[in-house]
Amino acid sequence: MSPILYMVIPCFNEAVVLDETSDRLKKKYETLIQNGKISPKSRIVYVNDGSNDQTWEKILEKHNASHLFSGINLTRNRGHQNALLAGLMTVKNLADCVISMDADLQDDIDAIDAMLEQYNDGFDVVYGVRDNRETDTFFKRNTARLFYKVMKILGSQSVPNHADYRLLSARALDGLEQFQEVNLFLRGMVPMIGYPSATVYYKRGKRFAGESKYPLKKMMSFAIDGITSTSATPMRMIFWTGLAVFVLSVLTGIYVLISHSIQGRTVLGWSSTMVAIIAFGGLNLLAIGIIGEYIGKIFLEVKQRPRYIISDFITDDGTEKKK
Ligand code: UDP
Ligand code: MG
Repeated sequence: MSPILYMVIPCFNEAVVLDETSDRLKKKYETLIQNGKISPKSRIVYVNDGSNDQTWEKILEKHNASHLFSGINLTRNRGHQNALLAGLMTVKNLADCVISMDADLQDDIDAIDAMLEQYNDGFDVVYGVRDNRETDTFFKRNTARLFYKVMKILGSQSVPNHADYRLLSARALDGLEQFQEVNLFLRGMVPMIGYPSATVYYKRGKRFAGESKYPLKKMMSFAIDGITSTSATPMRMIFWTGLAVFVLSVLTGIYVLISHSIQGRTVLGWSSTMVAIIAFGGLNLLAIGIIGEYIGKIFLEVKQRPRYIISDFITDDGTEKKK
């Protein structure tokens, strides 16, 4: 039997892209349904992440035009990762498999066929990996590459260089549900689920309308979150640095003692003292900063606040339900 495929698409101020995205996805779905690749019960679900433009109205309009489209409305902006999780958890019991994707069609929707093939071959997780990012800026491409390199060095598990374009089976979603962390970094969490996974390569396109919702500042905090919520290695590095500095200071102490008592030399100079004070002052602050980052994460985790609150979920018969 052909699987019920749901797509989950987080949208933050994406009113200008939804017409085009919906048109293309509808065509894709119609072909897939016609060819018996997916069940007619398959749906496309937009998650409105507290947009302050006409995104939610647009989603309702899409649903009224075709019940292929459904929508989830969050009470406020919670960020890409939370919006995505809200969508995944809401459709979890309705679908056989779910593909998550961005609203701006940067991810090639023709890769859906290949993802479905892998799903039919028994893979529970199928990563969409960008094999070409010519359309992203030089800066974005290279900072992203650097980030994944750092992740690889620091992480206990590898994070594939992919955006959140991936297929998850129903049981993989059940697995994901058990991860109750508040600091979400899905790219780092999904490999931890552990079911068989496969990779599909695709070309990353340009955002065809609207602006990126990830300016430099957001990108940097996403990177720091990514590292500190998947790996404790930076703290371990502080320990090793501290140890190295301690050994160095013992050696220096011995040297100073010897030069003072045997060779009769006194204080060597002002510059070396200053350099040491500045260097270790900086190192201390950096170390405190890294520890602070983790304590901040613990703080957020222990509060156990909800990761999202859903105000509306459009069901198939056209009614809006409070969940
Ligand atoms: N997004 C969201 N909430 C946010 C920021 C972004 O739901 O607070 C969505 C956005 O609408 C898009 C996806 O996350 O569908 C990826 O964002 P974007 O395309 O702006 O990121 P980029 O491709 O530039 O990294
Ligand atoms: Mg984009």
